[in-house]
Amino acid sequence: MPLETHTNREMFLGSLPIRRALPTRGRRVVGPWCFLDRFGPLAFAGGKPMDVPKHPHIGLQTVSWLLDGEVLHDDSLGSSAIVRPGGVNVMTSGRGIAHTEQTPASNTGRLDGVQLWIALPQAQRHQPPSFASIDEVPAFEAPGGIGRVFAGTMLEATSPAPHYSSLIGCDIGVHAGSQLDVPLDAAFEHAILLLSGDAAVNGQHLADATLYYLAPGPSEAGLGSHGGCRLLLIGGSPFEERILMWWNFVARTPEEIAEARADWEAHRRFGDVAAYDGPRLDAPELARLAPPNPAS
Ligand code: MN
Repeated sequence: MPLETHTNREMFLGSLPIRRALPTRGRRVVGPWCFLDRFGPLAFAGGKPMDVPKHPHIGLQTVSWLLDGEVLHDDSLGSSAIVRPGGVNVMTSGRGIAHTEQTPASNTGRLDGVQLWIALPQAQRHQPPSFASIDEVPAFEAPGGIGRVFAGTMLEATSPAPHYSSLIGCDIGVHAGSQLDVPLDAAFEHAILLLSGDAAVNGQHLADATLYYLAPGPSEAGLGSHGGCRLLLIGGSPFEERILMWWNFVARTPEEIAEARADWEAHRRFGDVAAYDGPRLDAPELARLAPPNPAS
């Protein structure tokens, strides 16, 4: 049976072109993963291709994973960390945090990566905010390739990143001319995004800028590549709670969204990102609450 396919939407994050893979029409979440932006690869000389001013989050974790280049995170807790390939930044917003993300002044002139969000379950979504930076996530090697596990566990690799749902987040490299069979948790739903190169999943060729969804059931996926590839694999137990996403907020009710928006506009709750020399993002008008419209 062919995989369910969802074409990414081309958008801009400030001046940075991105492809939004989640949420998408017909597929709002994959396990607890509720947002996936793909940016790059790009090369630049001078300037800051990524520069997201001060903005708030509630009810989620952000996960920043790079294939190339670097991104500097600062937040209202005073955390400051540059994420580079092989490492991961995980910000747990809990009830509220503000942060900025930018290309640091000292950089490689390249940028290639993803940002993901994870919806926090009811029991954890009002917790105090926190931030974790991991320089090098664990990897597993298999005959056909290598997997870097930035969230959850695959084979012998378990990410030390803190998470609150059963999930997996993995960057899988398949060697040229190889086949790599990866184990799947049969209780998880999964999604796969081609990051580079050419790939097939269970014999089905993958297109660029397309998210492929796998319903719960299979305990294995066969990944193949002619010239070599990198794939993003995310998954988790189907998220049982119905979430409401608006701008940078993950909540349950319109009232919570309105309160978070009012708190941001009134400079309450979220704190300031003192390390960032620049403006704060204004929240959009609340008029159109129904369609989820995450910004960054
Ligand atoms: Mn953000």
